[in-house]
Amino acid sequence: MSQLEGKTILVTGGTRGIGLGIAEKMAALGANLILTGRDQAAAEAAAAELASATGVKAAGLGAPLTDEGAVNGLVDRAASIFGGIDVLVNNAGIDCDGPAIDHALEDWRRVLHVNLEVPFRLAQQAARHFLSREKGGVIINVSSVAGFKAIKEASSYVASKHGLVGLTKVLALEWGQQNIRVCGIAPGLIKTDMTEYIWGNEAAAAYVNNRIPIGRIGLPGEIGAMAAFLATDDAAFIHGETVVIDGGTTTD
Ligand code: NAD
Repeated sequence: MSQLEGKTILVTGGTRGIGLGIAEKMAALGANLILTGRDQAAAEAAAAELASATGVKAAGLGAPLTDEGAVNGLVDRAASIFGGIDVLVNNAGIDCDGPAIDHALEDWRRVLHVNLEVPFRLAQQAARHFLSREKGGVIINVSSVAGFKAIKEASSYVASKHGLVGLTKVLALEWGQQNIRVCGIAPGLIKTDMTEYIWGNEAAAAYVNNRIPIGRIGLPGEIGAMAAFLATDDAAFIHGETVVIDGGTTTD
């Protein structure tokens, strides 16, 4: 039996990029998936493609996370699709670059909302759901190397990702003895739409590759593989930890 067979996993922002990479690796271990995205049709299309490629059950849920109505009750809505949720992956995130001195309050709030407040609220919803089922569960927060080190001109992003690393530790302290495991992943530079402005530009790509000790950009599946492992019982003693996967970027 595959390690995640019979489990249902909710991945926010699971329609593309790292979220989709996570969903694919979890599906390969037999999990059923619920993918959220900003738009219902795009979420359904991504889920249908995943289901036909892997043979697992997959559903798409349109949930623009800047919209209160979409965040309220999201875990319960997702849980009603296949009869429960076993793992929540807080993956959806945004960035907004620019010098701190000019960073608009509106942008700061939007980044902190999507990257930190929404993961907290979904974690609360998931924990309540896990407790009501008396089966426990796992929460995986996708932070960033920006959760451990500063990046110039990314004040709101860095603050939100540092916050998520701290939140992961607090929730682990509070919920560990209720059979809820909480951990995180901190990716380095990964090839997705979010970073196309870096890897899509030849000069910038060379610059960045020189700064990544392993000599290349990472791929969504390389984050997905760790997320899938963290969701399994083999990772049962990994708790409160955010695992850095960055090709060595933060080693110096
Ligand atoms: P991406 O832009 O390719 O995908 C982001 C996903 O989040 C999409 O599915 C999008 O629909 C969803 N999303 C974003 N804002 C949303 C909103 N308001 N409502 C609903 N859904 C929303 O980005 P990615 O590179 O795959 O990033 C995924 C996560 O990984 C993010 O939390 C990001 O901060 C983190 N991360 C990415 C990198 C990288 O190099 N790509 C590095 C470190 C951390």
